[in-house]
Amino acid sequence: MSLAGKVVIVTGGSRGIGEAIVRHLAGEGAHVHATYNASSERAEKIQAELQGQGGHVQFHRLDVRDSSMCVQLVETVVGSSGKVDGLINNAGITRDALLLRMSEQDWDEVLTTNLRSVFAMTKAVLRPMLTQRSGRIINISSVVGITGNAGQANYAAAKAGVIAFTKSIARELASRNILVNCIAPGYIETDMTGKLSPQQQQALLGSIPLGRAGVGADIAAVVAFLLSDAASYITGQTIAVDGGMVMLP
Ligand code: NDP
Repeated sequence: MSLAGKVVIVTGGSRGIGEAIVRHLAGEGAHVHATYNASSERAEKIQAELQGQGGHVQFHRLDVRDSSMCVQLVETVVGSSGKVDGLINNAGITRDALLLRMSEQDWDEVLTTNLRSVFAMTKAVLRPMLTQRSGRIINISSVVGITGNAGQANYAAAKAGVIAFTKSIARELASRNILVNCIAPGYIETDMTGKLSPQQQQALLGSIPLGRAGVGADIAAVVAFLLSDAASYITGQTIAVDGGMVMLP
């Protein structure tokens, strides 16, 4: 499972699931180019800590809503590392509201941050990956993209879009040895789910057969697997990492 020397981009690496992915991949010897948007101090702290442990981790500022920044980031990474082996599209937000109260801005903000960014980042890494004739792209979707969720029409639509995008691109790129998969996390303890009311958190916990909320490390382990040689015959799939919350047919 070693990822030694693999160059991997992780968007939204400054907090939550992304931070756990950055920590795990650095521990496996990957050269991680992580991004932050607003959390610059946190990014600096994680970078200093992991570099102090001998990890190859570099943070870059990226607003995934800005497609030209996405292109620029990939150029910087390929310019300094000479290649890009993996892309983890993790950055995401919620702007929850029942549909009657959901503004067009709430809709656009979530679709742009959670779905258009996946298009922009994936397109940006394609050229180097096509030249290399290898690459792994892992998109962080959500179980909500499979089941839907009241109050999250924008988020569910974006996450379902990520799954359909993944399948389409996996078909386009399979012959070039570029593998594209999705992870659908369930209820993971992060700042994002910390915003839920205690009642909502309790209801979610009650729907998890394994009886506990997930942590970022649960997702990071599956990301590392999908980047590894062990996953070389898997593409176009969505893997739910959710304690059994949603059981796919
Ligand atoms: P957090 O809110 O904890 O972290 C979000 C991350 O995304 C931060 O690093 C943040 O960076 C980054 N980000 C937000 N907006 C932008 C932007 N415009 N440009 C670049 N980066 C941005 O979320 P989670 O860790 O919980 O979620 C990570 C992913 O997992 C998301 O895609 C989410 O939808 C998905 N997910 C989460 C679940 C959960 O239960 N937590 C369940 C299912 C899916 P910064 O702070 O620097 O701005």
